[in-house]
Amino acid sequence: MKLTFLGTGSAFTIEGNYHSNMILENDNQKILLIDCGSDARHSLHELGLTYRDIHSVYISHLHADHVGGLEWLAFTTKFDLSVKKPNLFISEHLVHDLWNKTLSGGLSSLQSEVATLSTYYHVHSVKDHGFFTWEKLKIKLIQTLHVMSGFAILPSFGIEFKVKELSIFITTDTQYGPYQINDFYESSDIIFQDCEIGEHKSHVHAHYDELVKLPEHIKNKMWLYHYNASELPHATEDGFRGFVKKGQCFDFNDESTLFAK
Ligand SMILES: [Zn+2]
Ligand SMILES: [Zn+2]
Repeated sequence: MKLTFLGTGSAFTIEGNYHSNMILENDNQKILLIDCGSDARHSLHELGLTYRDIHSVYISHLHADHVGGLEWLAFTTKFDLSVKKPNLFISEHLVHDLWNKTLSGGLSSLQSEVATLSTYYHVHSVKDHGFFTWEKLKIKLIQTLHVMSGFAILPSFGIEFKVKELSIFITTDTQYGPYQINDFYESSDIIFQDCEIGEHKSHVHAHYDELVKLPEHIKNKMWLYHYNASELPHATEDGFRGFVKKGQCFDFNDESTLFAK
């Protein structure tokens, strides 16, 4: 099993990087796309992949750097008759808005057909505290707090899964919230953590200056991603595993790719 970062940038990622979408590939070369942002067709192409390789996609939340490529994936897989309808795994809380607020404008009108989300995807909505199974791998959803405006909360759903006794936690987009997700930090062996850097703090992403205060044993298993700059702090000196780079591959059969600094 391998996890490869198609990009490690933020929504406003600069040239040379892509949105923080990932592919999880099992030992049978089956692929789960983790988030499908508006960069996805380019970032997949750079790794030699096309929509034909994407039979399953997981969506964490509704920002365009995570869902902006879903119209492209829907149309390309729909109109290529040699391709099966992809699986879409998503929290039950996001399904309605994904269609009604994000995708239906472009996708609902098909010539001679009124389309729904199910026209394009096999939708697997995941209940609270639930999990989904992809190629026999159980993937648990961990809700994080991403954006809060008054009473309107946009959560993001991180994921956790186990490979060979190793517990992997990908936060997806999240505010700094050590109290909410500390149990998952503690129980994980490897953490992939949303981390913004720079002077401006958006407060909807964990900032490096906040994360650096975490206990050493947590930072020691933490890889940082979703940043928007080329000049990075010295994360390894501060006790982290490091910043993930675009294209970086974590091979769960090869521990040197997981723990090497
Ligand atoms: Zn994002
Ligand atoms: Zn976001």
